[in-house]
Amino acid sequence: MDGEKIKDSAMDLVLNVADYYFFTPYVYPASWPEDGALRQIISLLVVTNLGAAVLYLGLGAISYYFIFDHNLMKHPHFLENQVWREIKYAMTSLPWISIPTVALFFAEVRGYSKLYDNVADSPLGWPGLFLSMISFLFFTDMCIYWIHRFLHHKLIYKLFHKPHHIWKIPTPFASHAFHPVDGFLQGMPYHIYPFLFPLHKVLYLALYVFVNIWTISIHDGDYRVPGALTTVINGSAHHTDHHLFFDYNYGQYFTLWDRLGGSYRHPSALMGKGPHDLIRKLQAEGKLGNDEAKPNGQVNGRAQRGVTCKEE
Ligand SMILES: [Zn+2]
Ligand SMILES: [Zn+2]
Repeated sequence: MDGEKIKDSAMDLVLNVADYYFFTPYVYPASWPEDGALRQIISLLVVTNLGAAVLYLGLGAISYYFIFDHNLMKHPHFLENQVWREIKYAMTSLPWISIPTVALFFAEVRGYSKLYDNVADSPLGWPGLFLSMISFLFFTDMCIYWIHRFLHHKLIYKLFHKPHHIWKIPTPFASHAFHPVDGFLQGMPYHIYPFLFPLHKVLYLALYVFVNIWTISIHDGDYRVPGALTTVINGSAHHTDHHLFFDYNYGQYFTLWDRLGGSYRHPSALMGKGPHDLIRKLQAEGKLGNDEAKPNGQVNGRAQRGVTCKEE
């Protein structure tokens, strides 16, 4: 019945594939039409949960095994069984986050968004695609900055955002370990964007995957940022200081809003005062009882002085 409208959604690309290969032949009775509302909602719930779990666990595991420096697990603020606890918390929250998210996907499948199919539908052609990529990143970065800052408000913080700050030395698996309300609010800008601005649906799916990779990457403990970009890009070093010192570096991709909002803090890991430096110092003093420390070229070897994190 919504024949023409259904074309205007990114999730229908995913739903069509899922229907064709799985749901229609193996799951739903033939009498239930593919564009039935309830059927679409159930399918979206399944697809969204599976997709989120595969992205989180798959990309998280790649990052954990190949990028995350396991030496960080010796840090005094690294919790017992932390990796397992991060995964458990994220996997418990994701199904709850998927419920309001699917409501937005459903509105999108029903044709209420400004997503389009063909480059020819782009208001500005190919340059329009490039521009929408840039505007998506800046729009979501701005929204997440303010939502995240709001979540740190003393009246809200304990209710929704504190669970993400249990991990002072996060691993890639902390990337999605949010209270459901927190996870949905911080994910909302991604889902709102295509209702406000035109966006190519394949680009939208690609950006969705990128966003997941980025979120994992700022928790991966790889503090390197290309020299000239250290003050522009909000990387893992910046976000680690957010976990350690709490009311700095709320941003997602860029330091722009932290600079404008007066919450920018130059990463301690880039000034020889980061988690690796503390671990090296404690090892040198024999306080970690372990001399396996591998010399790490990412930061210099000056010992840590002063506070190592802020208690909230
Ligand atoms: Zn925070
Ligand atoms: Zn974080």
